[in-house]
Amino acid sequence: MMRFDVEYQAPDISAYRTGNTGLDYVHQFTSGKAGPNILITGLIHGNEISGAVALDFLMKNDIRPDIGTLTLCFANVAAYRCFNPAKPHLSRYLDVDMNRVWSRETLKNGPASRELARAREILPVVEQADYLLDIHSMSDDCQPLALAGKQEKGVTLARAIGLAPYIIMDRGHASGFRLRDFDRFSSGSIRPASILMECGQHWRQATAEFAINSCLRFMTATGILEQEKAAPWLTLPSARKERVLDVTHTVTVEHEAFFFTRSVQAMERIKRAGTELGLDGVTPVVTPYDDCFLVMPQPGAPRGNTAVRMARSI
Ligand SMILES: [Zn+2]
Repeated sequence: MMRFDVEYQAPDISAYRTGNTGLDYVHQFTSGKAGPNILITGLIHGNEISGAVALDFLMKNDIRPDIGTLTLCFANVAAYRCFNPAKPHLSRYLDVDMNRVWSRETLKNGPASRELARAREILPVVEQADYLLDIHSMSDDCQPLALAGKQEKGVTLARAIGLAPYIIMDRGHASGFRLRDFDRFSSGSIRPASILMECGQHWRQATAEFAINSCLRFMTATGILEQEKAAPWLTLPSARKERVLDVTHTVTVEHEAFFFTRSVQAMERIKRAGTELGLDGVTPVVTPYDDCFLVMPQPGAPRGNTAVRMARSI
């Protein structure tokens, strides 16, 4: 894994503990006018500190909805409290990945963990949301990705936000459901809808800026914030021409470990079908078609985890 210095500070969020919802670190603002209920979550992964920066920005600047309801949720605060810039990868979670527990079955009967307890706690605000923006970041120094799920409504929402150069249609991971994939976001033709925004490399200053811009544009895209109110804070231009990539193959590691046998870059396009990418145990993994894009390759992914996703441009 490449090393990056942490270029910005993880904000002190202790002042946000007591929210107005009865839930720690969850704040809800109601405009009093009819409109959608939107939810922005940060820190589902405790070390993805751009989410804390973005929510802190919205709180500090008193950004409130003109219509509908806005809920801001600092998710895995317990893991975030352990964040140490000298060892920034360690505080992703405490017991289990909080972005793999979002099925009804796991929420009801999953093995006890601090993450599952917190997921159950914030479930009521997830159940209310018409639109969800879940802020994340990546280990790779990669351009931002809007993970939109397999349905058209996710792509429509990502295009309306209009910031990320790549919109990824994917199903998630074999190891468990992401918040973005929670079942209610898959029902209905327009909403509820959700986006998982990978805002860039975890520790880049630009990633925090992208996270803030994503939140504001999400609010204008869903209509709860007037364009002219957001404008003074918007520092990034719209994506010129988003590329939509449809993930056709998710490579889940079946053997002890997965090794890439060539050097791979995030979002790399591999020209020829049949190009070997790596070995799962002794089984070669090859590209299934020409012009195959590699989405978030994870060198050294352990058994049961995603090693790489393969996608075609549509
Ligand atoms: Zn994440």
